[in-house]
Amino acid sequence: MPAITVSHLRKTYDDTIAVADVSFEVGAGEIFGILGPNGAGKTTTVECISGLRTPDGGEVRVLGLDPRHDREEVRQVLGVQLQESQLPGKIQVREALELYASFYRDPADVGELLEQWGLADKAKARFGRLSGGQKQRLAIALAMVGNPRVVVLDELTTGLDPHARRTAWELVEQVRAAGVTVLLVTHFMEEAERLCDRLAVIDRGRVVALDTPAGLAARGPAAAQRMRFRPSQAVDVAELRALPGVTSVERHGAHLEVAGDADVIGAVTAYLARRQIIAAELRVEQSSLDDAFIALTSHATAAQEA
Ligand code: ADP
Repeated sequence: MPAITVSHLRKTYDDTIAVADVSFEVGAGEIFGILGPNGAGKTTTVECISGLRTPDGGEVRVLGLDPRHDREEVRQVLGVQLQESQLPGKIQVREALELYASFYRDPADVGELLEQWGLADKAKARFGRLSGGQKQRLAIALAMVGNPRVVVLDELTTGLDPHARRTAWELVEQVRAAGVTVLLVTHFMEEAERLCDRLAVIDRGRVVALDTPAGLAARGPAAAQRMRFRPSQAVDVAELRALPGVTSVERHGAHLEVAGDADVIGAVTAYLARRQIIAAELRVEQSSLDDAFIALTSHATAAQEA
């Protein structure tokens, strides 16, 4: 049975269509990402999955349960990351976990959770005094307190510094290693690429792409490749330009930058090897998930720039 099934979900607020038509399925044990620009309908979608909102149309199932009709059952199997504003600043870390544990039939052991999520020495610290990274760890620990089979993490790493973000990624992998399915809402491409098995890109209330991160990246503009290096001896730029797949060659001081299609790296490397030229300080950039995302949701970028 899939962990989550969403089919033709629709949700409007007055005259705003937040979710027009969203369908996807999350397999048990997957880390599934929902990616999209601001206002795309991501949060509304996960709120419908969590039973926090009632859809206007379509169906949602969590482990075969309907969040509207089997609300209590869904609450027992689905962990939802709390937004920071939902905890009072004065509550202590252990108190918060014990309070939330009391809502579940079969809660996790609070002491073990504190250990597992690196909060044991913060058990008596007040929530308001925690660092961003510690708050995030508590948010995940709270989502895990009911021993859920599925967790929803919405913008888990927004506002975190790069170190804390990497730690949060390790935590998400730890959640999955515990056999829990993860639904992750994010707008960080790197995060999606690093963590997610599959992604749904949502734009204006619709799924515009559903694929693995690599599959999505491959849809980027012409799968462009770019290599930059410092040749160990003079290179005939005209010869480089004539190689198969090369679209441009530029000089930047002692460096050369060669761009082209998927064949360009092989062609340039073979050419340099034939001439016994070493490519020092070599950097290769491939068309990324970023490029694919921008291409898929380009109107949003245009609107933001306008
Ligand atoms: P995302 O999470 O992708 O940023 P949301 O699901 O939060 O998108 O929002 C989708 C659209 O619905 C946006 O246009 C947003 O302004 C609108 N919206 C979200 N929540 C409400 C609400 N409670 N009342 C009215 N409009 C809302």
